[in-house]
Amino acid sequence: MNNQYLKENIATIKQRITSACQRAGRSVEEITLVAVTKTVDSDIVNQSIALGICDIAENKPQEIVRKHDLIKGPVNWHMIGHLQSNKVKQIIDRVKLIHSVDRQSVVDEIEKRAAAHHKVIDILVQVNIGAESQKSGVAIADVKALLNYIEACRHIRVLGLMCIAPFMADPEQVRPYFKQMKAIFDEVKAMPLQNSKIEILSMGMTDDFEVAIEEGATMIRVGTGLYGARNY
Ligand SMILES: *Cc1c(COP(=O)(O)O)cnc(C)c1O
Repeated sequence: MNNQYLKENIATIKQRITSACQRAGRSVEEITLVAVTKTVDSDIVNQSIALGICDIAENKPQEIVRKHDLIKGPVNWHMIGHLQSNKVKQIIDRVKLIHSVDRQSVVDEIEKRAAAHHKVIDILVQVNIGAESQKSGVAIADVKALLNYIEACRHIRVLGLMCIAPFMADPEQVRPYFKQMKAIFDEVKAMPLQNSKIEILSMGMTDDFEVAIEEGATMIRVGTGLYGARNY
């Protein structure tokens, strides 16, 4: 992979974001592009940072630990993968935002570790919007209960919701799921929560982020579109 390829990919993704925002009557400033760097060599990640990427995401805690010292420049780290409670301590002082909080046990662990670091950790609650048994995420019916549970945590602040839509050959087929996420997001925003500041809706990946933006995403997570296909 060379610098020119990376430069063109970044420009293409930005153009796609701009077009989707224009169609939706939204401003590009409303959208945060998070570059998904899983399996991507740290040199390439550093090149992309030099080209203006400022948010990067990994789906495995051990990769955040391994890459943390290899990545140069001020960058925001995002944890987007399934989180086991026993891994929370590895990432607690390394990440800006955890997208994948989906159950009480992991909330308890984040609260405990954040308290020990005298920090308040920003998180998103991951929703299993397609009710897929193989996917992480809290069930739609349990979202509000989990948010109310987190209210008691002094070291956690909920900034919004995240989902991974079901895989569909045609991104248009994913639209109803994004629409439903936006509706849940609006409901959650209207809840009288004291410790939350609901403003981020993390949804949309390389193949479907335009649809996600049209339906209200404020944060998109793009890997393949920036770095090319992963070989796994
Ligand atoms: C890998 C991954 C992405 C990025 O997927 P692409 O199709 O490569 O853009 C986004 N979100 C999550 C949670 C991922 O694991």
